[in-house]
Amino acid sequence: MTSTEDHVYPEEERKRSQERVLSLSALKDSLAESCFGLSLSEALEEGVCVDCGKDPKEQCYSPEGMIEWRRSGLCEICFDRIMASGEEEEE
Ligand SMILES: [Zn+2]
Repeated sequence: MTSTEDHVYPEEERKRSQERVLSLSALKDSLAESCFGLSLSEALEEGVCVDCGKDPKEQCYSPEGMIEWRRSGLCEICFDRIMASGEEEEE
């Protein structure tokens, strides 16, 4: 009943991960608009990738790719490319 550690720690953690999720989705949405002029929700409605504008069903080679498209608006090919270029910022 006196476990103060147990009380404080998860609360902090939850707040921190919530912030991370929020800023990440805001980043993705502005990324989407700057790439293709489509917002994430527009792309999902149209059924296209926000980056290449193609049908994600033809651009995804795994079920995870389609899940990612629903999340970020990027087909698997574009997602992989952006992730690859984003991680290596030295040229
Ligand atoms: Zn694409």
